[in-house]
Amino acid sequence: MEKLLNALRAKGYKMTPQRRAVAAALIKCGKFATAQQLLLQVKQTTPDVSLDTIYRNLSLFVKLGLVTEIHLPGREGNIFEVTTNQHHHHLVCINCGKTECLDYCPISSHDLEKARERDFQIISHALEFYGYCRTCRTAG
Ligand SMILES: [Zn+2]
Ligand SMILES: [Zn+2]
Ligand SMILES: [Zn+2]
Repeated sequence: MEKLLNALRAKGYKMTPQRRAVAAALIKCGKFATAQQLLLQVKQTTPDVSLDTIYRNLSLFVKLGLVTEIHLPGREGNIFEVTTNQHHHHLVCINCGKTECLDYCPISSHDLEKARERDFQIISHALEFYGYCRTCRTAG
């Protein structure tokens, strides 16, 4: 959590109590959290916080690259993960939302060259793999 807070300070953002509470909730919720889960966590220490505040802070963290947003198609809200040092992607179950880290990047420098040919400067990319986890497959 200090890492997240230090990164915010380093970028010149004020450390408001709400911002601190959202950062703390991200760490407390563990690897993956939805905005709703974060809201429940934050409310334990900061009862007057709204889902809007959670989203506002999350989008700032995402913009700064401190938090990674994992897109869930056809479900309420996305999943948030504190960005790790190792660039990686995710496997997402479209039935139950279970998410796993896939510890490598399948995008080759050749793929990225193709985009550069279009005179586009790539700074990052996101990629999720959608399917069904073992539990959902065996449940039919
Ligand atoms: Zn599943
Ligand atoms: Zn991950
Ligand atoms: Zn990648």
